[in-house]
Parts: sequence; structure tokens; C-alpha cells
Amino acid sequence: MKIAEIHVYQHDLPVTNGPYKMANASVDFLDTTIVEIITSAGVVGYGETCPVGPTYQPQHALGARAALEQLVPALIGENPLLVSNLHQLMDLNLNGHNYAKAAVDIALWDLMGKHFNLPVCDLLGGAQLEKVPSYYATSVAEPDEVARIAKEKVSEGFPRLQIKVGGRPIELDIETVKKVWETIGHKARLVADANRGWTSKDAVIFSNACRDIPVILEQPCNSITEIESVRSRLNHPVYLDENTENLSVILDVTGRGICDGFGLKVTRLGGLSIMRTVREICLAKSMPHTCDDSWGGDIIAAACTHIGATVEPRLNEGVWIAAPYIDHHYDQEHPIRIEQGYIKVSNGPGLGVVPNTTLFGEPVLSFN
Ligand SMILES: [Mg+2]
Repeated sequence: MKIAEIHVYQHDLPVTNGPYKMANASVDFLDTTIVEIITSAGVVGYGETCPVGPTYQPQHALGARAALEQLVPALIGENPLLVSNLHQLMDLNLNGHNYAKAAVDIALWDLMGKHFNLPVCDLLGGAQLEKVPSYYATSVAEPDEVARIAKEKVSEGFPRLQIKVGGRPIELDIETVKKVWETIGHKARLVADANRGWTSKDAVIFSNACRDIPVILEQPCNSITEIESVRSRLNHPVYLDENTENLSVILDVTGRGICDGFGLKVTRLGGLSIMRTVREICLAKSMPHTCDDSWGGDIIAAACTHIGATVEPRLNEGVWIAAPYIDHHYDQEHPIRIEQGYIKVSNGPGLGVVPNTTLFGEPVLSFN
């Protein structure tokens, strides 16, 4: 079996009740990129990559498609089952750009699952859960509004809430998290995610003011250096998200004890192949982590759910997907959605999602 054709599609995903606001980004719609790999045997795999706008992190949608144009031709004629070899081939044709390579990687795992008639979670080591816990991330908003949404989402069954903070006076962030804690207490686990938006001073002020609230600080400051400098003055566990650009960073920060866990992004790291390795590193170091992505549609949501299902439950911080914020599914029969705070793991084969490609129009890139 050989890779016979690869098509790349661009698609806009509108944000319902947008814009969605974070410390450094505000988005009304998501520009997503879908990769379709077709083999000589007629097996088709789908992957996706969807940076949340051009300012959340260095990755952006136009960059993803430019990178795919550069690296995809080298894959035509290759055996799609040899995923590690294909990663080496991609690296030989383009340095970096893991988020673009991730779309190819996810499509290869989907294709492999269909070829062997197995769900991707089985290929990744086996699901430990039938339903993966999810979490809800609130937009940066007024304290009363965030507390109202937090109460609503806890009553819907979410076991964890991520409160977006940053990009405004720290007093408002403190008031917001205090209001949420007063409203929901121990009914859900709490995270305050500043998306790199706090100075080290802000992080210390927040952590002192909220000393008695059991909240994780996710990516409080911009860089690892800033977080490292302030960590001994914080009263809360710290997770890294945006700084986890690649496997080398994961090894460095776990080795040096810079953080207590991670908010991981499947495409930023390079796809399911690398996530599988990171999952094992986190297991060896007993570090909790999420298996998320930065937005995207059903294909990314399915990929995150499959790898999320394979994480040891005590380390599983959940799978965030964009479905609650996007009124749109690629596969009407098998949409990936959250029910009572959890996501059902598909039995496959592959990712268990068959996108209706007519939604995407003509491919923007095609190779055969
Ligand atoms: Mg985050």
C-alpha cells in the first residue's frame, strides 16, 4: 500500500456567541486546515491543524498550509503505515513546523486504524476509559458573568473548569477566581489560565491573594525563564501550556522540575506519535496533563479524545475540545461532542469520524 494522493482543504469554523477572548487573542472564527491522504488501496485518512488565530502562539493557519505545500510532495509513493519513517522524511524536507506535520501524522493514524480495522486509541496503547473527562474554559469576562457560567457548567457535569485570566488588571482576575470558588467550591477542579498574560509580579500577587483556593496556575507568564524565576514565591501548582513547543522542552522542564503538569496541545507538539511519547514521559514523572488542541473541528477533537483515553486516569486532566463553542460538525452521524462533561471514545475504525468533504469545497493543495 502506497500513499497515492494528498489533498489539503481550508475551512472556516465560526465561533458561536463570539468573539472568544483570551489574554493575548480574540477570535470570531477559526481558520482550520484539513489533510486528506488517499492510498493506492483506497483507504482514506484525515488529519487537521487549527491554530487559534495568529497571536495565541507562533503557529498560524497560513503557515500550516505553506509548510504542507513544502513537505507533502515527498510523501507520495511512500508506505503510510511506517509513521516514524515518514516523520523522518518530513523532517528532511522541512525543519520544524510541527503543527503542520501533525495534520499529516493524525491522518496517518486514522488511515492505519482503518487499514487494521481498529480504533486509534487501541493503536496508541489502549483506552483506559470509555468516556474521557472534558473541561470547560471560560472566556475572559466580568467576575459575576464568569461565576454564572461556572455554575452552569458544573451543573452540566463538567469535572474541571479553566478560568481564562490575564490581559487586564490583576485585581479583576483575583475577583473572578474568588467569585468562581465561592460559587462552585469543590464541585469542580479549578485552573486559572493566563495564557502567558501575567507578569511575574501579577503571578505573585494573584497567588498570595488566592492562597486558600485550590487552583492550578496554567502558563501564568510568557516564558519558562519568567516562570522559573517566580515559582518559589507561588503558593499554587504551575502547569505549562504554550511553552511546550516540542519534546525537547518537555524533557528539559520535567528534568528540572519547572512545573507540576501540562496543558498539552496535540498539533503544537507534532501529532499523536509525539503525544504518545510525551504521555510516557509524564507517566514516568507522575505529571498530570491534558490532551487538547487549540481549537479545530471533529477531526482534531477525535484525535485528542483517542490519545486522552489512553492516559492513566490519575494523571488525566481531561480533553478540551472546541465543540461547545462551534455550532458545526464535519460528520453529522458521528459528531464528537461533550455530554455531561465527558466525551465518549469512538470504537473506530481509525478516528471514527468520516468528514463530509463537500463542506470544505475544492482542495487548496493537491498532490499525486
Ligand atoms: Mg492553556
